Amino acid sequence: MREIKLFINGEFKESKNSFDSINPANGETVAKVYLPSEKDIDEAVDAAESAFNSSEWKNMDANKRAEILEFISNKIKERRNEFTELEIADSGSSVHKAKADVHNTATYFKVLAGQLRKFQFEVKDEASSRAGFSHNFKQYMPVGVCAQIIPWNLPLVMAAWKIGPVIASGSTTVLKTAQETPGTAALLAEIIAESGLPRGVVNIITGGASEGAHLLANKKVKKIAFTGSTQTGRKIMETASKNLQNVSLELGGKSANIILKDADLSIAIDGALYAFLYHAGQACDSGTRLLVDEAIYPEVKAKLLERIGQIKVGLPTTAGTAYGPVINKKQFDSIMSYIETSKKEGAKLLCGGERLTSDGMDKGYFIAPTLFEVNADNTIFNEEIFGPVLAITTFKTEEEAIILANKSIYGLAGAVWSKDQDRALNIARKIETGTVWINEYHLLNPGMPFGGFRQSGVGREMGEEGLKSYLEVKHLWISDCNQREQKPWYDVLFK
Ligand code: NAD
Repeated sequence: MREIKLFINGEFKESKNSFDSINPANGETVAKVYLPSEKDIDEAVDAAESAFNSSEWKNMDANKRAEILEFISNKIKERRNEFTELEIADSGSSVHKAKADVHNTATYFKVLAGQLRKFQFEVKDEASSRAGFSHNFKQYMPVGVCAQIIPWNLPLVMAAWKIGPVIASGSTTVLKTAQETPGTAALLAEIIAESGLPRGVVNIITGGASEGAHLLANKKVKKIAFTGSTQTGRKIMETASKNLQNVSLELGGKSANIILKDADLSIAIDGALYAFLYHAGQACDSGTRLLVDEAIYPEVKAKLLERIGQIKVGLPTTAGTAYGPVINKKQFDSIMSYIETSKKEGAKLLCGGERLTSDGMDKGYFIAPTLFEVNADNTIFNEEIFGPVLAITTFKTEEEAIILANKSIYGLAGAVWSKDQDRALNIARKIETGTVWINEYHLLNPGMPFGGFRQSGVGREMGEEGLKSYLEVKHLWISDCNQREQKPWYDVLFK
């Protein structure tokens, strides 16, 4: 059986306690996973701190760090089949999604290497500099020891978005994966061990809430980067307040997908389904609120029902599977309870709403694609479900659509569908979320920032903003007037 060990200070280590990770599609054991003790976690933080202070890491220039990122990218490509198989077994991802995630992760490391090569770690500020008086620089320095925590829904992509900027910035980290999905981060650890990165720069462990909480409470940690639920995000902000740690949070969402009267329904319908069914709805940016112009709603509804009938839910490895199981019983129960609440609140179930058990699906938790017609007060129109459930409502005017889209505690993503790009853009500009697509959904660009407004998070990952969130900025003031009489402000002391 595969064993997943702790990766601390460049070495793979066993620990006293272990558990079996489970394939959510069939209940089979994927790996024996070693769980870190508090002492192991402290040791990982110590390793990250020593690495941060080592001259080997401090003196490694950006070009060399970029080469390491490219090495990681190339190795992921070389080992893509192994990554894909393990991601499927751990997370229940369909084959096409897992393949895309592996490909996108390799691309991400490569794009980041390119960004790093161009990034100016020292920038003269022309506007502030005054000839004969001073010249002024901004210097970007690594933030230091990071503690990073990721969820189970996109294990490899999330690990990459965390580890990438640590290496690029010259920081160090202890990354904790979700206990459900430790697999592909462990493969990343194998690559990192042979990448030329100094020992202890990246340490990878797994565990649940208590291991996460112990890691974050360590005073040596200078930055916390967390991806997960908004509920846990609140607790993490509280923890961070104790040591005033720098925090970035990527949290939940309830994104609105707006179909305008003039939308091309040949793409908007499939786009709306892709927006909420991708990975069984277990994506933070899922388009789980569908807002449709009431003038075209009968046609949209008929087409949604026609297309949804053609979607195949199944075992992740079965050909043609659109999506597989949800991650575990806890998640399944939570989704089913939202479905029941919704019915009680008077929402109209158009299709789905039930567990699927045929064709080998009885050993996992598979949920049929579910459409509800709701009003804007319904619980499922407002709360994140993290399952294959869509809440649909209509609007009369574009202003109403914008108000509905922005009426949320979240602000992660959304989309507008229209044949008129300018019209769609006009609406997109007024949406208060970190990403808005026009005639598209879910596609990300590693050169652009990703993150949320309001309770969807703090800070951004990817793009220049993502790199900068792992950098502290320093003002360097260099005086160009160095005769005593050129510094009359000192005279105030001697009057
Ligand atoms: P979760 O908050 O329960 O757990 C996330 C991670 O935090 C796990 O590794 C868990 O072990 C750890 N954790 C839990 N409690 C902790 C605590 N008190 N202290 C420290 N660590 C703790 O979330 P989840 O159910 O695993 O993931 C689903 C959530 O993640 C959804 O809400 C989803 O929207 C969100 N998510 C957001 C993004 C984004 O980029 N915005 C991406 C993926 C997932």
